[in-house]
Formats: sequence, structure tokens, C-alpha cells
Amino acid sequence: MPNLDQKIIENLAAIRERMAQAAISAGRSPDDIQLVAVTKYVGLPETAALLEAGCRDLGESRPQQLWEKADHPELAAAHWHLIGHLQRNKVRRTLPLVELIHSVDSLRLLETVNEAAEQLGQRKRVLLEVNCSGEAEKHGLTTSSLMEMLSELPALRHVEVCGLMTMAARSGGEVVAGKNFSALRQLRDVAQQSAPPEVTLTELSMGMSHDFEVAIREGATIVRVGSLLFEGVGLRE
Ligand SMILES: *Cc1c(COP(=O)(O)O)cnc(C)c1O
Repeated sequence: MPNLDQKIIENLAAIRERMAQAAISAGRSPDDIQLVAVTKYVGLPETAALLEAGCRDLGESRPQQLWEKADHPELAAAHWHLIGHLQRNKVRRTLPLVELIHSVDSLRLLETVNEAAEQLGQRKRVLLEVNCSGEAEKHGLTTSSLMEMLSELPALRHVEVCGLMTMAARSGGEVVAGKNFSALRQLRDVAQQSAPPEVTLTELSMGMSHDFEVAIREGATIVRVGSLLFEGVGLRE
């Protein structure tokens, strides 16, 4: 479907351009911000089109969908990011397939990831998800539970906690999103100061289709963009 592919390639280029502009306006280098293309709305052809257009970092929010796509030979070159809730019984199957888990939201889950990574003989990069909006239906650590976890991290030698992830409030618009993102950045700064010396929290995964520019202004190093990539293509969800 060449037209569909063409539209995705155009959308991708437009998003990359907006990311670069947002970075420059914020006095940052565009190279310091990574795009994770969220493919949860689309099937194999659209996902393959993205990969072919040079977008290798792909995100899925459901482990089963990630498994299916990661198994597909046409998508073998992708670097997968799990951005949604991970149940502990799905860790073992998910871990070998992913580059980065954005959504570790409890110490128990982190311990399970650590054990599975040890069995794989790997050290896995993960982010801790924080609930910055306070919305009850969202996953994510509270500020105090994050601060309590920090001292446990050096003992978990097969995971490298390299930053934080959040989602902005669903309906707050850009102003509220900006506050949520700025709160995550400040929390990262505070956490970094009280963390043991072997912990380095560099990454801030924040910003989606409606608020990625705000997130870049507030210090995002990774943005996760889905629906905007497939505008004019037709979404599954
Ligand atoms: C779906 C999803 C995204 C992408 O959202 P869009 O608004 O479609 O860009 C980003 N992050 C998470 C955690 C998601 O579940």
C-alpha cells in the first residue's frame, strides 16, 4: 500500500521537524531527544513502513502485542520499548525482546525484572514510571514510593534504572501537561541528589502526540508519539 506508506513517511518527517524546532526553541540539541514511535494502533504493514522509513525505536503498551510484533521476521530490525503496564508473570517472556521498559511501577516488578535479567545474563535498562498527574486510574509510583526505592537500586545489579517516565493528565491541555512534565523533571533532580552514587537518572520519557513539544521544553529526552504518526492512515483503536 504505497499511499499509506507515503502518508506515514510524511507524518514522521513532520513530527521530527517539530521535535527539532521545539528542541532549538528550548536551547537544546535535537540529537538529545529520541522518538519512540508507538505502534499500538496499527498492524504489521504500518509498523513495517515506519521501520523502513528509518524509525527503529518502536513502542507497544501491551506485552502480548509487543510479543507478536517482535516475533515477526519483517520487524526484526526494530528496537522495542514497552511503555504500558507489565504484569510480573509476563516479565520473563517480554524481557529478551525489549530495549527499554518505560513502565516499572513497583519495587516488586523491578525485582522480578532483575531476576529475569540475571537468568538471561544481561543488564537491562529500565525507567521508573511516576504518576505526576495524581489521576487514580493511572499506573505509576508516587513521589514518596520512588524516593523510598532509591536505596534498594544498587542491590539489583541486573537492572540499570536510567530515568523516569510519566503521562500528563488526560484532559488538562498543554498548561497542565507542562506542569506535570516540569514536576517529573524536578522530581528527577531531587531523586538524583538523594540516590546512591551508582544511580544515574538521565532519561525523562514524557510527551505524546498532543504534548511532545511541551515535554521537550520541559526536558524530555524521549518522546512517545503514536496517533499523530498515523493521522490520515486509519487507526485500529
Ligand atoms: C498510547 C501511548 C502513547 C502514545 O499516545 P498518542 O497520544 O497516541 O501519541 C504514549 N505513551 C503511552 C504510555 C501510551 O500508552
